Amino acid sequence: MEDLREKYEVVIGLEVHADGCEFGNEQNTEISAITLGMPGVLPVLNKAVVDMGILTGLALNCEIAHKCKFDRKQYFYPDLPKGYQISQYDEPICGKGHININGKTIGITRAHLEEDAGKLVHVGSDGIAGSNYSLVDLNRAGTPLLEIVSEPDMRSPQEAREYMEELRNIVRYVGVCDGNLEEGSMRCDANISIMPKGSKEFGTRAEIKNVNSFKALERALEYEIYRQIEIVEEGGEVVQETRLWDDNAGVTRSMRGKEDAHDYRYFPEPDLMPLEISQEWIDRIKASMPELPEQKRQRYMGLGLSEYDASVIVAQYELAMFFDKVLELGANPKMAVNFMMGEIAAYLKEQKLSINDSKLTPENLVELISLIEKATISNNIGKQIIADMLANGEKASDIVEKKGLSQISDEGAIKEIVQKVIDANPSQVEAYRGGKDKLFGFFVGQVMKETKGRANPQSVNKLLKDMLG
Ligand code: ADP
Ligand code: MG
Repeated sequence: MEDLREKYEVVIGLEVHADGCEFGNEQNTEISAITLGMPGVLPVLNKAVVDMGILTGLALNCEIAHKCKFDRKQYFYPDLPKGYQISQYDEPICGKGHININGKTIGITRAHLEEDAGKLVHVGSDGIAGSNYSLVDLNRAGTPLLEIVSEPDMRSPQEAREYMEELRNIVRYVGVCDGNLEEGSMRCDANISIMPKGSKEFGTRAEIKNVNSFKALERALEYEIYRQIEIVEEGGEVVQETRLWDDNAGVTRSMRGKEDAHDYRYFPEPDLMPLEISQEWIDRIKASMPELPEQKRQRYMGLGLSEYDASVIVAQYELAMFFDKVLELGANPKMAVNFMMGEIAAYLKEQKLSINDSKLTPENLVELISLIEKATISNNIGKQIIADMLANGEKASDIVEKKGLSQISDEGAIKEIVQKVIDANPSQVEAYRGGKDKLFGFFVGQVMKETKGRANPQSVNKLLKDMLG
C-alpha cells in the first residue's frame, strides 16, 4: 500500500465552521420563537455578527464584499424546525483570501455568514450507530457562524491539520470563536480526492463529516486516501458522497449521496435586507484588528526567540497572552521563554493544566526573573522554586526568604567552604593536581552540596581554580 500511495497525489479542501457563541448551558434553555419557526416571527440580523464576519475576513486576507445578501437553503432535518437555514449562497460577505502555513499559501475561496442548526444527541450510541432514539437540543439553532471554504490547495493530511490549526489560531486571536473542536465551536467538513501523480484533473471528492479533533482530521483523511486508492486500483470509481468519520472504529462510512446546490432550492431570503458594507465600515474594523498569529510570531522572533519557541507559544493562545503580559512588565524575553518552554511547560503538561489554571501570575514570573538577574538567587534555584509558584501562587521572594535560598555571593564565605571541601578530599585534590582535570566538576558539586546550591557559580569556579592551583 505504501508504494501505491506514491503513485497518487492527494487533494484536500476544508469547509470550516467557526461559531461565534459559547455553549454548555442546559439543553433547550436558549431558544426563541424565531428558532422554532413560529408563525409570523421575523429574524433580525445582529450588527455585531457582521462586524465579526468582516474582522475574520480581513484576518484571512479576504476581499470584503461591499454588497452581500442572505439566501434560504431548504432541507428537512430534526435539528432545523424552520425547514430552512438562512445562509449566503452566491454573494457571500467574504471573497477570495489566503493564509500561510509554514511558508505555503493556502487559498480561501470564500467565507459566508449563516445561522447554525440545533444539535441531535443520539442516545445510547457512539454517535454513529446503535442508537434507539435521538434528542434535540436547539440552543445552538439560530446562532451565527462563519463558514470558511478553502481552495483545494492542501496535499496531505498533515497540511490539512496545519491549515486548520492556523485557522483556529486566527479566530481565537481576533476573538470571534474559542476554536474548541471537541465542544463543537469549530467544525470542519474535509473534502478529499486522489489523482495519479502528474495529472491535471482532480479526482472525485468525498466529503467527510464528524471530525471532532485535529487527530481525527488526520486519521480520517489517512483512512480515506487508502480507501480511495483501493477503489481506483481495483478499476472502480470514487463516488461523490458525504461520509461520516467513526472515531472509535477508525473508518469513514457512507452517509448519503452528495446533494447539489440545486437540491436546496436556494432563493434570496425575503426576511432579511441585502447588506451594504461601506468602505468606512471596513476601515473601522480594520483599525480594531488585534495582532494576528503570524505577526506575533515575527515579533517574538525579533526579540531573539527561535522560530520553534515563537511558534509553540503562539499556538497556545493563553500562553501567548501570558507571555505578552510578562514582556509588558519588562522581563528579559529569553529568560522568560526559557522558563515557559522548560519548567512551566513540563509542569502544565504533567498536571494537564493550561497556564490560566495554574497559580503562576505574570507578575510573579517577572519578579523571579529579576531575582536571578540581580543575582539574589541562582538560575538553578529559580528552576527549583517555580513549581511552588505554579502550584501555590507564592511569590519568589517569599519562598527565597522562607527557605533561605538567597545566593551566597560573598567571596569570603565561599572561600571558607572551598577550603573545607579541599581539606575533606585530599586524594581527589592530589589526582586533580596530577592532571585529572575532569575532577573539577566534582569539586564544584561538593561546594554546591555544602551550600545547597546557593553559592554564586562564577565565584565558585574562580575560587576553585585559584585554590586548587
Ligand atoms: P459543497 O457545499 O458542495 O461541499 P463548497 O464549495 O462549499 O461545496 O466546498 C467544496 C470544498 O471541497 C472546498 O473546500 C473545495 O476546496 C473542496 N474541493 C473541491 N473539489 C475538490 C476535489 N476534487 N478534491 C478535494 N477537495 C475538493
Ligand atoms: Mg461541503
